[in-house]
Amino acid sequence: MEVRLEGLTKIFTDTVAVDNMTVVFPSGKLTGLLGPSGCGKSTTLFMLAGLHNPTRGKIFFGDEEVTDLPPEKRGIGLVFQNYALYPHMTVEQNIMFPLENVKVPRKQAKQIAFEMAKLVQIEKLMKRKPSQLSGGQQQRVAIARALAKKPRILLLDEPLSNLDARLRLETREEIKRIQQETGITTVFVTHDQEEAMSISDQIIVMKEGLVQQVDEPQELYNDPINKFVAKFLGNPPINILQGDVKDGRLIIDGNDIYPLVQKLEEPLEIVDVGLRPEAFTLDENGFEIHIENVETIGRDTLIRFKLGEQQVRAFIDSEYRLVPGQDVKVSLRRRGVHIFNPKNGAIIKYE
Ligand code: ATP
Repeated sequence: MEVRLEGLTKIFTDTVAVDNMTVVFPSGKLTGLLGPSGCGKSTTLFMLAGLHNPTRGKIFFGDEEVTDLPPEKRGIGLVFQNYALYPHMTVEQNIMFPLENVKVPRKQAKQIAFEMAKLVQIEKLMKRKPSQLSGGQQQRVAIARALAKKPRILLLDEPLSNLDARLRLETREEIKRIQQETGITTVFVTHDQEEAMSISDQIIVMKEGLVQQVDEPQELYNDPINKFVAKFLGNPPINILQGDVKDGRLIIDGNDIYPLVQKLEEPLEIVDVGLRPEAFTLDENGFEIHIENVETIGRDTLIRFKLGEQQVRAFIDSEYRLVPGQDVKVSLRRRGVHIFNPKNGAIIKYE
């Protein structure tokens, strides 16, 4: 079921937590709601759940407007960061709880609980109490419980934050699998760009209550709408440097680093330049750099150097071992070179 927000706004006394948000969460897809702490992600989710009333705007589930519908009538499944399982109940009782609440007969509730447990692969743990489970297993129970009532929408608020690094990876793959198997429209709140990139069909990037950009993960990465989005996605982050545009060439600290940036949408001479670390490549015809530091991350080599006073980090694909102190020539691939307006951070397209 498609979910649509129209001009959704939430104002707490003196804070505009969510500002005139108009977006679509496509049916059967997983949408990541991404942004730094305090940007309004949870507030958006709480309004979807019916736990906060919007100050203005509308929420639609399919064709039905649900803006004023109480939470229990919306058909949502909610999963929070802190699992919120009942400690005195077994796994099975926890999953059955929302069903018994709405008077589903016990036998049927047991059957559904088993199906849900199987879906999240904890069917062997039904008789355990939450304290006898790992964090990842507890989160699976929470997801099974949220799915038991066959909700129309699944809402996940930072569901992986309490897990260690390995479990985070495992559980996020698990969430993706469950989401695909059930085909349930899902909203996944996170401040972790890598998590959002790996799990989402679509990402909504927010900043200070305002939607910045909505797109598929790779599109956001390749075509950010502004400096904020470019900086927020990617690890190591994009290098942002000050540059000059002269006669269709991009110059940073006297280095002619990229030829032919023509037909700039805005004819600025001083710009902010975003260089993705992986946009660099060794090239005899390129410009010279002096390697200050070399780090090997798995199969990748990350080098650090300066362009004038500005630090740059770059991944270099090289058969040769690069060492600190070495001088090499590099050039840049078009796809990883972005130009921004230094005043407002907006992207400036070029040919
Ligand atoms: P985090 O990742 O830290 O949870 P978030 O993006 O989910 O952040 P929200 O919790 O939605 O952010 O908060 C958005 C803004 O609204 C923040 O400035 C926050 O302080 C404010 N806010 C949230 N809830 C309330 C409330 N009940 N009363 C007043 N202000 C609130």
